[in-house]
Amino acid sequence: MIVGNRVRTFDGIVVGGGVAGLSTAMQLAVRGLRVVVFERQQLGSGSTGRAAGLLGQLRGTPEHTRMLIEGVKIVRELQRRVGVEIYVQTGSLRVAETPERVREIAALVEMGKSIGFPIDHISVEAVACLLPTMRTDDLLAACLCPTDGYLQPAELVAAYTQVGREMGVVFHTGCHVQRLLAAKGRVRGVATSRGEFQAAVVVNAAGPWSTLLAETAGVRLPAAAIGHCYLTTRPDGDHPVDRLSPSIRDRHLRIYARPEAGGWIVGMYGAQPPVHDIARLPADFDMSTMKAPRDSLDVAMLLEAAAHRFPWIGPRIPMHVTTGIMTFTPDAKPLCGKMSGIDGLYHCTGFSGHGIVQSPTLGVIMADLIVNGHTDYDIGAIDADRFHAQCDLTDRAQIDVACRTMAGNYYGAVERIR
Ligand SMILES: Cc1cc2nc3c(=O)[nH]c(=O)nc-3n(C[C@H](O)[C@H](O)[C@H](O)COP(=O)(O)OP(=O)(O)OC[C@H]3O[C@@H](n4cnc5c(N)ncnc54)[C@H](O)[C@@H]3O)c2cc1C
Repeated sequence: MIVGNRVRTFDGIVVGGGVAGLSTAMQLAVRGLRVVVFERQQLGSGSTGRAAGLLGQLRGTPEHTRMLIEGVKIVRELQRRVGVEIYVQTGSLRVAETPERVREIAALVEMGKSIGFPIDHISVEAVACLLPTMRTDDLLAACLCPTDGYLQPAELVAAYTQVGREMGVVFHTGCHVQRLLAAKGRVRGVATSRGEFQAAVVVNAAGPWSTLLAETAGVRLPAAAIGHCYLTTRPDGDHPVDRLSPSIRDRHLRIYARPEAGGWIVGMYGAQPPVHDIARLPADFDMSTMKAPRDSLDVAMLLEAAAHRFPWIGPRIPMHVTTGIMTFTPDAKPLCGKMSGIDGLYHCTGFSGHGIVQSPTLGVIMADLIVNGHTDYDIGAIDADRFHAQCDLTDRAQIDVACRTMAGNYYGAVERIR
């Protein structure tokens, strides 16, 4: 159907122009569907525009690890196609300063090796040589994954958009989806600030706003909007940072770090992250305008932990603090696919701090589910409907507590590796 020169009927509608929506739209178009993406602001202006992009492929389970390894292959193919560097392969280090973290690293190395993933122990002396500006005298053990690195979120957004457009994806930016249109247990389309659009398939990839969108069709998504921040130091001649220095995960201090333009990005998964009431944010809320006051508790704790690992980072060092909102779930795994209740409505959200690096494969998984009804991946752990029978997650307050608790334990708890 065409009204006023505007096509109003598509095979698929994607709500949200972050990495999740863009990757899904691109993969749907590759499979021949006519797809439209609605984005309330600019593409990549939500969580995606705030991300550090750290990529650690080895996760707690072999299947999750496979998803990330396959994601790197997709990104390499995208790079070739658009001619821009998206993936910076720096390698990654995990460091341990307590016996239980040493055991965690040992289990990770064992699991990695059992599935042929490049990972090995590295001596603390070798870590000190690799990163002379990092404190190492309190470390007991470390491991190195040479094929890890980070993805550049802006370049990834541009690549998904370019390839999507070449495959026929239509983009409506500055267009707010007000509600889902559903009748008789089926989604029919969306009502937007530019009128109604029809499709038999709607993908909710609205990031932190995905809970609000789902509620317009009476669906309660078990996800919450959690605040997160990191600092970026400026280049400093006394503490040079090689562009290809390995990224670092120090779960005991709850920090991660990676090189960025001659400085370090250092972020923290604190024990008591803020929960944002997304329904109370203004309609024109712009995540890029968020500021974390330098004297806030979150920033103070981040600075303290960063200064422990990099003792030259102090309050007088020139740095920028980036703050934003990520979408957490009660088990820190994404919500992908359909939920009981409404046919044709798919969710792709809840990435719990890892949406940039999960997006390449999750786009494939979403498109496979939508087009074929199944995927080769075992998606039991990320199935959007997995909390369906959980009666302690029936209202917003319970969901917020469950998601915040998980976010607070995210680095603090010792990882269970299977
Ligand atoms: C500070 C910070 C650091 C992070 N670091 C990392 C990292 O190192 N590695 C990593 O992998 N991930 C990281 N993340 C997480 C990552 O940014 C997210 O997981 C990812 O960007 C989620 O993508 P998305 O597409 O689901 O959401 P978003 O990027 O938020 O996209 C959703 C989009 O939907 C739009 N939208 C919402 N509602 C509507 C509506 N009703 N109508 C139209 N449009 C709508 C929004 O404007 C938004 O652009 C970080 C996040 C933050 C905040």
